[in-house]
Amino acid sequence: MNKKAFYLLLVFFILLTSCRRVDYLKSITIEVGNEITKELIQFETTKEINFDEFDPFQLGTQNINFYVEETSYPLSVNVNDTKAPTVIQRHVVTIEADETINWEDYFDISDNSNWYEIISDIDTSLIESREESIIVRDASQNETQVSFELNVTSKEALIIQQEKELIVDVNTEFDINDYFTNNLDMNLSIYGDYDIDKVGYYPIEVGSGTQRLSVILTISDGSLTSSYKLIEPATIRDDLNIIVTKRYQLPQSYVPDNLVLIDSIYNPKSVRVTSDTALAFETMANAAKNEGHNLVATSGYRSYDFQVQVYNSFLAYDSQENVDTYSARPGHSEHQLGTTLDVCEGDLCFGNFTNTDTFHWMTNHAHEYGFILSYPLGKEGVHGYTYESWHYRYVGKDVATHFNSMNLTFEEYVQQFIE
Ligand SMILES: [Zn+2]
Repeated sequence: MNKKAFYLLLVFFILLTSCRRVDYLKSITIEVGNEITKELIQFETTKEINFDEFDPFQLGTQNINFYVEETSYPLSVNVNDTKAPTVIQRHVVTIEADETINWEDYFDISDNSNWYEIISDIDTSLIESREESIIVRDASQNETQVSFELNVTSKEALIIQQEKELIVDVNTEFDINDYFTNNLDMNLSIYGDYDIDKVGYYPIEVGSGTQRLSVILTISDGSLTSSYKLIEPATIRDDLNIIVTKRYQLPQSYVPDNLVLIDSIYNPKSVRVTSDTALAFETMANAAKNEGHNLVATSGYRSYDFQVQVYNSFLAYDSQENVDTYSARPGHSEHQLGTTLDVCEGDLCFGNFTNTDTFHWMTNHAHEYGFILSYPLGKEGVHGYTYESWHYRYVGKDVATHFNSMNLTFEEYVQQFIE
């Protein structure tokens, strides 16, 4: 090799090594709506990269250039749409019959392509609640299917009326529409879980769509309501509304904090009740007296420990099965609330009270003073006691008056109207 050729070769190698090879992805695929980034093309530089104008919403291939300082580089960008629309339900879909559903009122719908269509074929003429679904599809045929509950309501409010006690036999199919009627002749549904094969009390809702009534479904083997099969702690709240039954038990420590003696004129046994109950009873007894009745209290607040004695005293000469029909077990007596009284006409108490004119007067007037009968006739299957004409609970005038028009036990009433 001569000297000239050697130098030429040397210059060639110097040029070759000084010229750094530029390495990047010349063809990329991006999701519609996305921007191109330095990372996507894997171009390693600390310098600024400027891309030609590019439409991220135009599907297909676009050939552009990008620039690093004065140098231009070609780039092929393929815009793809693989993502289905996003659909998030915001509200329960409740519409009036024959109304057109404005989907955006109920769902947040978006798609990365900024375009979608909603495919639905929903009949809104039937007043009912049912499972429905829609499909949201973008231009690339990516689909999202959404299921939801559709409530079609009537312009008129649904008024549900309970026709009979909701007690069904274990292992027996039943139709909820046999127990409730409504003003719109709708087929009512049950909302909530229960096990027809398992004896128990099940808080459920009955209704259509969002218009529902809270009730207790009792699945019974015939002995449940008059037994203590399922015991739960009573919910402690305003003593006028605490449910105390064979199911709901007060703790031993529960003592009302405002116990007072009832006026001695109406209180031969010196019983105590809460101050509101005492005042209401005195007012009532006074009114009864003006009409010739000698209404007196014979039992009021009873402590848990005293109820132990009462209950045990009956057990001393009667079977527990019998005793449970007329005496509450400790913690299960409304008397522990201090809002409950047993009343007499003079010395005609308990069974003897039933045939007095005073009881007749009480039937017509007790609610005016805020008292209700806790264990009414015809509801023995629900409250679990033999009928007690003498056992009154103070719940306030408004509730007592409303309660009397309902033919429910207080537990059922509180469930439907207070809770
Ligand atoms: Zn009583």
